[in-house]
Amino acid sequence: MNTLNIILKKKNKTELTYNEIEYMVSGYVNGDIEEYQMSAFLMAICINGMTFDETYSLTDAMLRTGDIIHYDGIDGIIVDKHSTGGVGDKVTIALAPILASLGIKIAKMSGRGLGHTGGTIDKLESIKGFNTQISEERFIENLKNIGVAISAQTKNLVPADKKIYSLRDVTGTVDSIPLIASSIMSKKLASNADIISLDVKVGSGAFMKNISDAKKLAKWMVKIGEKYNKKVVVTLTDMSTPLGYAIGNSLEVVEAVKMLNGELNNDFSELIYYFSSHIVSMALNVDLNKAHEMVKEVIDNKQALNKLIELVEAQDGDSSYIKDVSKFKQSKYVIEVKSNLSGYVDSLDAYKLGILACNLGAGREKLSDQIDHSVGIELVKKRGDYVNIGDVLLRIHTNFDDNEKYVKKIFKYYKFSTIKKEHKLILDTIK
Ligand code: URA
Repeated sequence: MNTLNIILKKKNKTELTYNEIEYMVSGYVNGDIEEYQMSAFLMAICINGMTFDETYSLTDAMLRTGDIIHYDGIDGIIVDKHSTGGVGDKVTIALAPILASLGIKIAKMSGRGLGHTGGTIDKLESIKGFNTQISEERFIENLKNIGVAISAQTKNLVPADKKIYSLRDVTGTVDSIPLIASSIMSKKLASNADIISLDVKVGSGAFMKNISDAKKLAKWMVKIGEKYNKKVVVTLTDMSTPLGYAIGNSLEVVEAVKMLNGELNNDFSELIYYFSSHIVSMALNVDLNKAHEMVKEVIDNKQALNKLIELVEAQDGDSSYIKDVSKFKQSKYVIEVKSNLSGYVDSLDAYKLGILACNLGAGREKLSDQIDHSVGIELVKKRGDYVNIGDVLLRIHTNFDDNEKYVKKIFKYYKFSTIKKEHKLILDTIK
């Protein structure tokens, strides 16, 4: 087989065979295929797409580059949850402790930021000492002892995705249905949980900009799961505006802690209740109302917050950061941006805010870029809120001395209306 011929075949929109796809994937992992060749191949997939069969082959070839986790000796239902990525999406950090405090085991291999979206691993690393690189043995041990483990992909878990994911992040090849489906499903199949709950984000801040692409991605992931006898439930949720009020690594961890402290009543808390109640209902076989009550109880009595503290300690983190969030490293400046218009916020573009957060240092432009955990955006007014002239719209947390160019951009991100419009957060469920 010849690498160049396979790239050309994809460029010419010809369907690839399993063997050709496997050749590209294994060749890239073992170093026979160069980064520039893989970049060209990924770009050809991004532009020309893949059939379902090619996407399934890609998933399987990626899965076979590493191990599949086995949970021998662990009792009970094991759940995994994954999001296709959005702006302000800190769901895992609050959801995982809630489920674990209800006795549901949650085994979560998470990713770093991708494109304009943040990643759970980068967020957790804003907690001093938090080790996101624990071994598979420790991952299983923590799951046994405290019911929850969150780590970056271990070395042997889909190494193909590990390499391809970072390459996609810096080559403009993220927003592709086959690449997202194979990336997520290869990891979820390797993680081998009993229930796989997926959140497909839709809207400007998501990789799927419209509902029909999101549905196609959702259906393909369910269908790939079926090939391996795995139950996959996909929820489509709105990402045209950021989730919650915090964007940026430590700011988002702080918002997740507030959620577990019972201090929030916003779209983020709505999504946490939605996902946790549905998963509890499926895993423990109780009706949705009962599941909702159970979730509320572990938030009210702080069991879920204490579980987060246990998780942080079990992964070498300094849990005093969770007990006192003022310990998180603060940015040098916090700049308030005030409105020069009044009205209801009609839209607030998630993509543009995600890019702004990246530019401030919360995300990466090159593989080698270091994340600045202290920077980001704290929204004060969101879609649906009423704004008077002079009200603070948001705060920019920044370590740059010159921020005028960012402030100017913000005004263009907010669109106002004289009437308040209703928007749906949960758009559809596909199983
Ligand atoms: N999350 C992943 O794990 N992979 C993608 O491609 C997109 C989001």
